[in-house]
Amino acid sequence: MMEYKNITVAGSGVLGSQIAYQTAFHGFNVSVYDINDEALNVAKERINKLKDVYKADLNATDAVVDSAFKRISFNSDLAKAVKNADLVIEAIPEVVSIKTDFYEKLGQVAPEKTVFATNSSTLLPSQFAEATGRPGKFLALHFANEIWKNNTAEVMKHPGTDESVFNEVIEFAKAIGMVALPLHKEQPGYILNSLLVPFLDAAQTLLAREVADVETIDKTWMIGTGAPLGPFAILDIVGVTTAYHIVSAKAQATGNPEAQKVADLMKENYIDKGKLGRETGEGFYKYPNPSFAQPDFLKG
Ligand code: NAD
Repeated sequence: MMEYKNITVAGSGVLGSQIAYQTAFHGFNVSVYDINDEALNVAKERINKLKDVYKADLNATDAVVDSAFKRISFNSDLAKAVKNADLVIEAIPEVVSIKTDFYEKLGQVAPEKTVFATNSSTLLPSQFAEATGRPGKFLALHFANEIWKNNTAEVMKHPGTDESVFNEVIEFAKAIGMVALPLHKEQPGYILNSLLVPFLDAAQTLLAREVADVETIDKTWMIGTGAPLGPFAILDIVGVTTAYHIVSAKAQATGNPEAQKVADLMKENYIDKGKLGRETGEGFYKYPNPSFAQPDFLKG
């Protein structure tokens, strides 16, 4: 049985702010920790803005969004921030040394009962398990950006995570309105990116090999599978820069000339021209009325 009441969110940036507010919105007491008051003030503003988002997207009332905000406290003293924590959700920068250092300090000041969860997108929990000093009470709890509507929570064990802790965190994720997706083994990229990254990579490789153009590749996928979006429409949502970083890292790590060709194509034809995806109004398609959304796109 999950009996968590007090949740600490460490790191109050893009994701940490969202996790804190979503958790408070579902009735938990939330303590937000960040390195200094300046960072906490930015977080307060970020979280305050989420009130309007929850009203618009979830039809929440003023009373509900205000009382959620009041359940959040802010602290730059780690020991105080985790004093009563049942669970600490870590959303600090994706840098191994920063996270290792944080877990070493956290392990010393958190109560013995406290469970630690990392929201890391690319680093595996086993990498930090020893630093926590409590490997059995440590695992990954990975949210997606815009948590209130993209409500996946990938809950992933490392080999030393206690089964009971795994089950409690799954229950907790459900209690804050998430669809909990259990991963019983460690997997880089969790489930979503293990599927998405190779899929998007295959589409970019077809383009770099000049097998077919963007629209033909997307159309093939959309007609063939009934999917509402093709890979290049998805890349425009992910952002061309993020996709470029992934493929460049692959090119560097493997020395694969084809990956380098994909990276060069992304840089020269898109990034250098400011075509970064949906957010900038143009990527592989032009927005707000991209050709793939036109009624005759799938017809010819
Ligand atoms: P961010 O840069 O927006 O926020 C990081 C926050 O951590 C900042 O407020 C910073 O002041 C604080 N911080 C820095 N050092 C710290 C320390 N030692 N202790 C406590 N706080 C510290 O980063 P983000 O995008 O919110 O990402 C945070 C984590 O969440 C990363 O592990 C990332 O992989 C993961 N994540 C991000 C997204 C996303 O879409 N941004 C999605 C899923 C998971």
